[in-house]
Amino acid sequence: MTVLSAWLLLAKFITSSIASLRRLAAPYCAVCAVDRGDPICTGCLRDFLDPSCARCAVCAARLPAGLPVARCGRCVTAAPAFDATIVLGDYAPPLDGMVMALKAGGRLDLARVFAELLACRLRTPIDCLLAVPLGRRRQRARGFNQSLEIATVMARRLRVPLAGHLVVRTHCGPPQQSLPLHERRANVRGAFELCGSLPGRRVALVDDVMTSGATLEELARVVKSVGAVHVLNLVVARTE
Ligand SMILES: [Zn+2]
Ligand SMILES: [Zn+2]
Repeated sequence: MTVLSAWLLLAKFITSSIASLRRLAAPYCAVCAVDRGDPICTGCLRDFLDPSCARCAVCAARLPAGLPVARCGRCVTAAPAFDATIVLGDYAPPLDGMVMALKAGGRLDLARVFAELLACRLRTPIDCLLAVPLGRRRQRARGFNQSLEIATVMARRLRVPLAGHLVVRTHCGPPQQSLPLHERRANVRGAFELCGSLPGRRVALVDDVMTSGATLEELARVVKSVGAVHVLNLVVARTE
């Protein structure tokens, strides 16, 4: 064996050892916990978080497959204050359990998983990110705001500023999920206050769960009232 071929053999051995170590150090898929490498493996993405399923471009409500429409009837009849919504999937297993594990179980590692996946689905430029704030009482009880945890990772990953300091939740009623649809809009009316302006900005609002969309609608309305020109919702799970 020549010196050159011995060196080549050694280099090959070192490269494959590094690859094996990297694979061992990579996290398991957050859904199946079998595959390593990506936050969620290809199989689980295809089975549970299919980005190609038909959704309304504005509010991300499910649309019947095969229909040549981009918006749901509700958004056509009365366009909401936000312009577009990206969701990872439906609020159903396994996503509902993962959201609860983040919120109630303090699994902050899942915020990174959600942030990575949402960042991958973003196709339009944004100028800043804004997490839907929790009320002071709820934030104190939980110790963190799950939407802010997701937005913080996204801001780092996308290299866009976080505008969290601009918005405060001045009123916090009962959780939206506990109310009938017609009461949700009134429950969040006047809930947010902005202490600054966003002239000409394209703002992305980050939330963990979107139910009727009333909370995001109210925040989008406030954000646009201080100059934002485009509001995109980045949401983990959609319930309706
Ligand atoms: Zn998996
Ligand atoms: Zn819609």
